[in-house]
Amino acid sequence: MLNLFNEKTPILLYMKTAIEKGPEGTHYEDRILGPQAYLIEKNKDKLIPANIVNRVIAYITAVMEVKSAMGVIVAAPTTGACAALPGTIIGMADELGLGLDEVVKAMLAAGMIGGLIADKTGFAAEVGGCQLECGAASAMSAAGLVQLAGGSAEEGVSAASIALQNILGLVYDPVANRVEWPCLGRNVMAGVNAIASANMALAGYDEVVPLDETLEAMREVGGLMHFKLRCTGLGGLSVTPTSKKIHTELEQHAKKE
Ligand code: SF4
Repeated sequence: MLNLFNEKTPILLYMKTAIEKGPEGTHYEDRILGPQAYLIEKNKDKLIPANIVNRVIAYITAVMEVKSAMGVIVAAPTTGACAALPGTIIGMADELGLGLDEVVKAMLAAGMIGGLIADKTGFAAEVGGCQLECGAASAMSAAGLVQLAGGSAEEGVSAASIALQNILGLVYDPVANRVEWPCLGRNVMAGVNAIASANMALAGYDEVVPLDETLEAMREVGGLMHFKLRCTGLGGLSVTPTSKKIHTELEQHAKKE
């Protein structure tokens, strides 16, 4: 039987390895962005003081860069939104000095929310936009953070609902048809939103709309979303002059190879 509370648990191992490998620098030809994961540490004296947030940004960037270099990541809940959950949970655990058991329990709490989302809407951005990817990742992370902080199940569910409500309606419009940008920024936003939502729930804020109703609203919003904003590359940032220029450059580069 799989022992989740084991240092060698493959899923956690892959997540941690991506966080460690990212700042060492990753490379892949067909890619928009160069390595940036090391920049937070390098420029830490210039940054707005927010240790936990800055660590989470760095961890999320590391995982996204390993993904963009075709390295091993855990697509939890999806490939495009693979970084928010490990970056936020492991980042927070490292910042607080928490161990493996706490991280595993946080991931299980996150997985409970993921299961509810899978049941109600699924995670396909082609169906409901980025709210189903980064929104789901943020809600899962928020519940995981509440668990890390020793909060109750009710607070975890409330945090997930707040996180999803904050992200409702997020469209899918990748630049140059690559799963890189705005995905990186949106994973970071999902992590930071998770921290805020977890603290709101832990402080006793009212989530107003409960999670089951929020999930139903997300499903409805996904259905109302124009097809140009659902993975077709026909709307939003995808059709900006910059996106088209990057796309052309990458295609030309690929032909030369
Ligand atoms: S923009 Fe698209 S690929 Fe990127 S995280 Fe959102 S849904 Fe995923």
